[in-house]
Amino acid sequence: MNRPLIKCEHVDFGYENYDVVKDVSMEIEPGDYLCIVGENGSGKSTLMKGLLGLLKPTGGTITVSDELKRSGVGYLPQQTPAQKDFPATVREVVLSGCLKKRGNMPFYSAAEKRLAEKNMERLGITDLQNSCYRDLSGGQKQRALIARALCATDRLLILDEPITGLDPSTTQDFYRTVRHLNRDENVAVLMTSHDIQNAVHQAKKILHLKQNVLFYGPVDEYRDTPAGREFLGGADR
Ligand code: ADP
Repeated sequence: MNRPLIKCEHVDFGYENYDVVKDVSMEIEPGDYLCIVGENGSGKSTLMKGLLGLLKPTGGTITVSDELKRSGVGYLPQQTPAQKDFPATVREVVLSGCLKKRGNMPFYSAAEKRLAEKNMERLGITDLQNSCYRDLSGGQKQRALIARALCATDRLLILDEPITGLDPSTTQDFYRTVRHLNRDENVAVLMTSHDIQNAVHQAKKILHLKQNVLFYGPVDEYRDTPAGREFLGGADR
């Protein structure tokens, strides 16, 4: 049996003296596609920080598979204006995804360069490798950042509000790319999103957060729960 990549049991996260996320139990298995949804302030980013190991739980237990502990996750952060203007080539941006694995070695190894090339091919950006990252379109930048994230590990891709700022056709292209990696290449995906309509079409599992977990389970079941019906607003049916 496959062991979960990340498992949370009754986990709480908070700041200083108060918890903003309470009693989360869930797991991400190999090949999963879990979308964390919820309104602004519901605790999505806090939970994400906790899953990335940036915030210690104030209660409960998180278990991370040995493989992920070694490699780190493939993380696609929310894009800041500074990152958008990063003065490096696409190849350099993708290669920098190997940094965590590399420790203090001053140069990239041949294996790391091959990995970066493989991931640029997977994302269809090989032709752009010598272009300056900041000159790319929004969708091309996302592809470069996914290729970068996959250099850390291709077991789990963590995406934090990934479609913010993308136009509708680029958004659909982005979802297609992520779905392909998930379905055809067995990359597990964990995404936070306020884009609930697309989330229910793409993901296999939903975690609806409002400080506590309102729902956690398969998408099809979510549609028939009060939380799902209210959040989807009838627009999905
Ligand atoms: P979401 O990502 O769903 O919008 P957040 O996790 O950002 O929600 O926020 C959940 C709650 O935690 C909010 O009440 C927010 O004010 C609070 N919060 C977020 N970050 C911090 C922080 N660094 N210090 C203290 N409180 C925070």
